[in-house]
Amino acid sequence: MSVRVRFAPSPTGNVHIGNIRAAIFNWLYARHNHGKFLLRVEDTDLERSTPEAISTLMECMQWLGLDYDEEPVYQSKNSERHLAVAEDLLERGLAYKDNKGGGGECVIFRMPTEGLLSFDDLVKGTIKKKAQDTQDFVIVRSNGTPVFHLANVVDDFDMGITHVIRGDDHVENTFKHIEIFKALGAPIPNFGHLPMIVNNQGKPYSKRDGAAFVGEFKEQGYLAETLFNFLLLLGWAPGDDREVLTSDEMIELFTLDRCKSSAARFDTKKLVWMNGEYIRGKPREVYAEQFKERVTSAGLSLGDADLDGIMEQMQVRTRFYSDIPGNCAYFFTDDYPFNAKAVKKRLLKDGVPELLDEVAAAYDKLDVFDMETSHEALVKLAEARETGMGALVHPVRVAVSGLAEGPGLFEMLVLMGKSVVCRRLRLIAQRLRNGEVLAVQEEPSRGR
Ligand code: GLU
Repeated sequence: MSVRVRFAPSPTGNVHIGNIRAAIFNWLYARHNHGKFLLRVEDTDLERSTPEAISTLMECMQWLGLDYDEEPVYQSKNSERHLAVAEDLLERGLAYKDNKGGGGECVIFRMPTEGLLSFDDLVKGTIKKKAQDTQDFVIVRSNGTPVFHLANVVDDFDMGITHVIRGDDHVENTFKHIEIFKALGAPIPNFGHLPMIVNNQGKPYSKRDGAAFVGEFKEQGYLAETLFNFLLLLGWAPGDDREVLTSDEMIELFTLDRCKSSAARFDTKKLVWMNGEYIRGKPREVYAEQFKERVTSAGLSLGDADLDGIMEQMQVRTRFYSDIPGNCAYFFTDDYPFNAKAVKKRLLKDGVPELLDEVAAAYDKLDVFDMETSHEALVKLAEARETGMGALVHPVRVAVSGLAEGPGLFEMLVLMGKSVVCRRLRLIAQRLRNGEVLAVQEEPSRGR
């Protein structure tokens, strides 16, 4: 049997991560099995399924590399067919008409009334329900439009879908859908229901927990590869402790028996870390392009800075391209912003201006300014002052860079060069003595 799976979103203008996760799982399942991945746009809600909503959906899929193998199917175009099926079910007594609650005449599908309904879910194992606990349900509304259950099943049948992989919010629907497949005399596809995505409290992940739509993650600077990989791990694992996988590895390893049935926790810290992993893994030329573009478009000049040396330090420390140049402006300008917390903790202390001046004086005396000599000079100063290195290292770092974090201090100082370092140490010492307020940098907000 050759695998045919589909992604069947209802476009609303925003693509929720839970939906796109289903697309990712289906896509990988198709690629792993050399099958077909199809797109069916469930656009029967004409108010929400606007052309813009559909193009947003297509853009998200394209961004993530979710290419489909046949022309997309638009569900709204199949209404005649859905209604003809309903008519046939009526004729065969498998459905009946009823004036539900006086709202007009609907077509109702007849569910079995006795016995046990059960299916073998590819992710969750056998799922059962007593027939007496189910109810007949509407398949055509009183206004003559087909309902989701009917349209979804008829289209899956017509598209020859072999596996339905979707979120576990559909488990209850699946009992209904299987009965419709049977009524149609259609082969029943295999079903696999993916676990719910939850927040740290174990509650369904929602807007309130941070970004929930693909477009938001993109805007916040996440790479498509990051989001793809991260969403894959929400309900699936490769069977070892690998977390960052290439596309080929994902395709090779993706089987449904590696899917997890328990709720998948959305861990934003892991997402941030993973974005950094992907950036670290980029070829230097790719990083360089982003780096130069972002530095120069922030109005900074690359000048004669040791770009290779700087990028070597920064690439491994960049979690978002959008953090450039905020995380390294000091390499390109004396007018770099200061982090308020770092200033308060490291610079607004008694004796700091004097200390910075002393470091500048010690550095001035050095003929060779490299990792070793710049380090050695601070060691000596610390000994002379009978303090630990930390008392020197931290204020120096914040003074010359504005930030509490970055490359190793001595790597950073050497990249800046002795004259820049000494100039800044003295300048900041002076500004602190004058009681000047150092410009502050806002922390980027990413719903963290
Ligand atoms: N349009 C439905 C949804 O987005 C389809 C579910 C499915 O069968 O995959 O939830």
